[in-house]
Amino acid sequence: MAGSQELFERAKRYIPGGVNSPVRAFGSVGMTPRFILRAEKDRIWDEEGKEYIDYVGSWGPMILGHGHPAVLEAVERAAHDGLSFGAATRREVEMAELICESVASVEMVRMVNSGTEAVMSALRAARAFTRRDKIIKFAGCYHGHADAMLVQAGSGLMTQGIPGSAGVPAGCARDTLTAVYNDLESVRELFAENDGQIAAVIVEPAGANMGVVLPEPGFLQGLRGICDEWEALLIFDEVITGFRLGLDGAQGYYGVRPDLTTFGKIIGGGMPVGAYGGRKDIMSMVAPCGPVYQAGTLSGNPVAMAAGLAQLRTLKETPDFYSDLNRAGDAFFRELDTILEEARIPHCVNHVASLGCVFFTDTVVRNYEDAQSSDTARYADYFRHMLDKGIYLAPSQFEAVFLSGAHTQADLKKTLDAVRTFGKELSE
Ligand SMILES: *Cc1c(COP(=O)(O)O)cnc(C)c1O
Repeated sequence: MAGSQELFERAKRYIPGGVNSPVRAFGSVGMTPRFILRAEKDRIWDEEGKEYIDYVGSWGPMILGHGHPAVLEAVERAAHDGLSFGAATRREVEMAELICESVASVEMVRMVNSGTEAVMSALRAARAFTRRDKIIKFAGCYHGHADAMLVQAGSGLMTQGIPGSAGVPAGCARDTLTAVYNDLESVRELFAENDGQIAAVIVEPAGANMGVVLPEPGFLQGLRGICDEWEALLIFDEVITGFRLGLDGAQGYYGVRPDLTTFGKIIGGGMPVGAYGGRKDIMSMVAPCGPVYQAGTLSGNPVAMAAGLAQLRTLKETPDFYSDLNRAGDAFFRELDTILEEARIPHCVNHVASLGCVFFTDTVVRNYEDAQSSDTARYADYFRHMLDKGIYLAPSQFEAVFLSGAHTQADLKKTLDAVRTFGKELSE
């Protein structure tokens, strides 16, 4: 234990909370974080040398597992050619072509360095294109940490935006309206109250930042219809779902075509990458083509592009990659559900393909308010039990479980066995 504990003490002296992103601090499970030394396939090792089966996968990017040879080799080769030029390169063209060929709604795309940046920039383009200022988002959907997106309505409250973080000017939050996931009526009301002022609706087409909350049949289609009716744009934030539910992301999976899409996570192969793209008429507004300014010193970085390209090409060229992974996901989450059912633990397992989560609640979770009914103390117990058994889950009830192509049947079984002993211990 000394390694992680000692590093955490040192970290807290110079880094706020000892971490560079809040959820890593293990605060909501009442523990101190494990410091990770290295990873391979579906395994990670902490500073103490303890081995875990990893279900965080860097919060989604590692869909091939850690250290995939194609990705490593591409990164090494690119690094030798030069870490950064701040000039145009071949790999950026290949990346743009690959994304546009994979995702039909994306006709043009711009690379950035994170999901946050992708969302900020997509909103700017949407506002410029529509000449309107207001944006509708959904409670419980996360779109990065840009000022305008750090807004949540209080439960069930649909009103003008109230900042969800200190330091966000009221003026920034005012133009962000919050609707209820899976509730089209809440969206229609906001459009009616703000006639001619709404630039865009932004949504996680499968919610994966309040635990996993799936769109009910007709929800995404309904959003498309409402946006068309009011001449607003529909933005899918596919930073998690892009290249996870399939090569064409959630929009392919659910068959709904957005105007703009944001990407991140998987497209970087583990490097800091984001992208936004969509209709050519909208993306043509972006500088130097048009008047919407957006730039980046390290955008399209050669090493990051090499990692992302190698990962996306592997996904594209591996026969049956997604059908195999998604089938493994279906079987895993169904069995998880059965085990908790048999142990009589109140729960709701939501999942799509290789993305899922368990809420410790007896409510069917279809929006943020439902998710908040979860017993977070029980989640903390569950997390601790699993960690002890060598299973590394997200240190929060409101995050997802990510399966990768590197998770073996034996490891999935070992994980489910650990869930079984959790159930037994609870009922004793
Ligand atoms: C992770 C995430 C973001 C933010 O991406 P960063 O790279 O962390 O800035 C935005 N939207 C969604 C849906 C995400 O899951």
